[in-house]
Amino acid sequence: QPVVGILGGGQLARMLALAAAPLGVNCLAVDGSADACAGQVAPLVVADWSDRAALEAFAHQVDVVTFDFENVPADTAHWLAERVAVHPAPEALAVAQDRLAEKTLFRACGLPTTEFMAVDTREQLDQALAAIGAPAILKTRRLGYDGKGQFRLATAGDADAAWAALGAQAATLGLILEAFVPFERELSIIAVRGRDGEFRTWPLTGNWHVDGVLSMSLAPAPSLGPLQQRASEHARALAERLGYVGVFALELFVKDGELLGNEMAPRVHNSGHWTIEGAHASQFENHVRAVLGLPLGDTGVRGTAAMFNWIGELPDATPVLCGVDAHWHDYGKQARPGRKVGHATVCAPDASTLATRLRNIAQALGREAQVEPVLRALADV
Ligand code: ATP
Ligand code: MG
Ligand code: MG
Repeated sequence: QPVVGILGGGQLARMLALAAAPLGVNCLAVDGSADACAGQVAPLVVADWSDRAALEAFAHQVDVVTFDFENVPADTAHWLAERVAVHPAPEALAVAQDRLAEKTLFRACGLPTTEFMAVDTREQLDQALAAIGAPAILKTRRLGYDGKGQFRLATAGDADAAWAALGAQAATLGLILEAFVPFERELSIIAVRGRDGEFRTWPLTGNWHVDGVLSMSLAPAPSLGPLQQRASEHARALAERLGYVGVFALELFVKDGELLGNEMAPRVHNSGHWTIEGAHASQFENHVRAVLGLPLGDTGVRGTAAMFNWIGELPDATPVLCGVDAHWHDYGKQARPGRKVGHATVCAPDASTLATRLRNIAQALGREAQVEPVLRALADV
């Protein structure tokens, strides 16, 4: 039986392992922590990225290596790639690890982005603010996730506060200043490319964030017009440029009806969790297929679907367990503020049925505010 090695043992590795099982594929995850939640459903190697002896043994046990965690050090990924097939390739991972390289690539591939400039010193922050204007967001180039490593500047007068918050990171992680985008909506497209170059996408997903963390997703995002095809073409251009193999997510803003690229995630993505029940083949199944060189599965949808993210702690499961075509996912993680501990997906044949099902579950949980933007989007259909 083929074995897929996964660097990182979080909920993404866990869901990859669960999707791999029916294909007769086993997974082996590596994580620095013995409590990593993938370890509850698949064997886990407990090792740091610098533990070459453990990684050497791991490389011999697996047929291909992939990622649950995009910030695996580039030298570790390259070192592994000398021993075993690694998908996506370390070069593609490196681009997605650096917001500056990523946005530069987007533009080179014809995907517009907001204005941005690298910031290495306090003086360059002033120069960037003069060029870009405010409001703006200062971000670390590397290692940011869930809105961490970001500072929002309402005016140029916030430069001192922004530097106090992130200046110490300039030398190690690098910084980038981005013009704030007053977007109409936020979308993502999940795409998959096989070893043979076959390329497929799922329908665009609408996303809502709270405090920089994904809160709700809706798929297919309503009222897209030509955006679906444009987003697919952008994703394909990026994948081909990178020689990408596997699933990735492209996060997009819609401003004045046009797409702007925000970032890409070189892995399965939170905004694609709805594909487990809402599509014929999920992002997890197709990632396993792609990295093993198997034919890709059907990315068509079964209807419409919405996802609630559970951040910090799980709510009562009962309303979801009792809901029609509603699906509960508990990652088996300890509750902790800001941590992604689970999600729920609700599916329906049409928008109005989905709205009714979502409203019922949200009311039972006292989470009307969380679901409200999704209900508004569904009402516009
Ligand atoms: P993720 O958890 O998706 O990896 P991240 O920490 O890498 O997040 P971003 O995706 O860059 O960070 O930002 C988080 C959210 O903050 C975005 O989804 C978007 O809602 C908002 N945001 C980020 N950059 C901008 C911008 N330039 N203008 C407006 N909003 C932005
Ligand atoms: Mg990110
Ligand atoms: Mg993001």
